[in-house]
Amino acid sequence: MENSWYLKKEGVHHFFCKCGEHKKLEALEENNIETEIDKFNREEIELRGIPNLYHPDNACAVCNNEKYLDKNSLLFDDRTRYWSEIKWQYETLIDDEKWKVRAFLKVPNVESDSKKSFIETIELATCTVYKDGKKSLEQKKNDFFKKSMLVGDKYVRIDRILKEKISEHMLNSIVNNPNRRIEWLNKKEKNLENILFFLENPSIRSQDMVQWKNRIYFLETMRREKTLENCLAYFLNYREEKSLAKIQFASYQNMMELGGYNPMVDYVFSRTITDMNHLRKALGMNVEIKQRLFDESRIEDIYHFIDFLKQRYEEKHLVRFWLSITLNDLAHYLLNDSISLFRNEDMRDELNIRFEKTRLNIRDIHDELSKHSRRVKKLKIKNEVFSYTNYLIESKVSLENIFYELPVDTQELYEWGGILHNCLFSYADNISRGSSIIYGLFVENTLCYAIEIYNHKIIQASASFNRSLSKEEKEKVEKWHKEVYLKNLMKAFN
Ligand SMILES: [Zn+2]
Repeated sequence: MENSWYLKKEGVHHFFCKCGEHKKLEALEENNIETEIDKFNREEIELRGIPNLYHPDNACAVCNNEKYLDKNSLLFDDRTRYWSEIKWQYETLIDDEKWKVRAFLKVPNVESDSKKSFIETIELATCTVYKDGKKSLEQKKNDFFKKSMLVGDKYVRIDRILKEKISEHMLNSIVNNPNRRIEWLNKKEKNLENILFFLENPSIRSQDMVQWKNRIYFLETMRREKTLENCLAYFLNYREEKSLAKIQFASYQNMMELGGYNPMVDYVFSRTITDMNHLRKALGMNVEIKQRLFDESRIEDIYHFIDFLKQRYEEKHLVRFWLSITLNDLAHYLLNDSISLFRNEDMRDELNIRFEKTRLNIRDIHDELSKHSRRVKKLKIKNEVFSYTNYLIESKVSLENIFYELPVDTQELYEWGGILHNCLFSYADNISRGSSIIYGLFVENTLCYAIEIYNHKIIQASASFNRSLSKEEKEKVEKWHKEVYLKNLMKAFN
């Protein structure tokens, strides 16, 4: 046991030093010692920033150690949360079925009857990995886990430290005692998640493959095809042109150097681009972009999106479109968002009828698609006329060149949202329920702002594209709120 412990039991103060010394202090001057002990909680004193003022009288007579952990406050009291150092132990058990790592703490205790001291073991956590890669972590939840311990110069919660450390022990235990499924790794894999993956998928025996992105889509393929070469041929749709495989392999290597191969582009392009020269150009796109492209989209949606484009644009223009996607985040956002709109069947029907062919670049395509998306959402919702209490209607006035208007129905609210380019429409339910009130603010017959009132306070006021109001505009709105809205409210309740 490497910790030194302080333990108060039946009026006796015990000091168990890690050197083996055990000192008992009978509580003769009880009060005096209590304050002494209270101060003795070194961690609390350090936290208060007065460590130098304190010199304990209870340093170990043998080794001079003065750092004792207070057992009661460490294990059973959650008031003192910060501790400079605590040590616990690990034990590993391995059999044919599993690897098991147990973390435990050894603490002294004193028997009530015989007054003899003994060491008890307190279970902290158990981590188990079964031979097929299933993992479980049981962590005892008590006050001890809410405390924080000093790691370097930072306090870190004990449950977090323990979770990390127990995983390290587990990793070592598996690496040094592999079962037959992972013997082939030859101690070369140092990542626990990857090892679990290989335990779960014993037919996959390529360390490269754990670095592949979008594994979720291709797991079956990886299990079936087994080797890297077979998988790559599958991603390329078994196209036999040598130059294609060459381009694929070069970009594969580059992506692996950049952190991981993304099979999506090879997979999708080789199945949607027929002309060899077009495909060659597309597959040879910038690898950084290729690594990211389609990373956040579902394959089904990508197919719908591409089918849709293919019906309207020529293949060579489509290839040019793919090659025009840049590395910047906005381009990827617009592409992912465009693709995701194709998940909705109503949207696909709507687009087939109404889509107007635009220039084939991601901004124009996205603009046109989102226009239709807004329409589809609007069609789905029944129109509802809002009803308002009198004081709200009485507050529809013109003040300092601003006219304050209430939306008549969901239709009008939707139109306001279109004018202001914001999500006003999502307030429809709250307005119906009376929990929110929206006023549209018109200047010279044009809708310029909208405000939301909740609990009779203005909680949001925004102009077009959710821009905030200027200081002057805000003052005008506050004046209306105070002199019109609140006055009408008071009248209504008096
Ligand atoms: Zn000692």
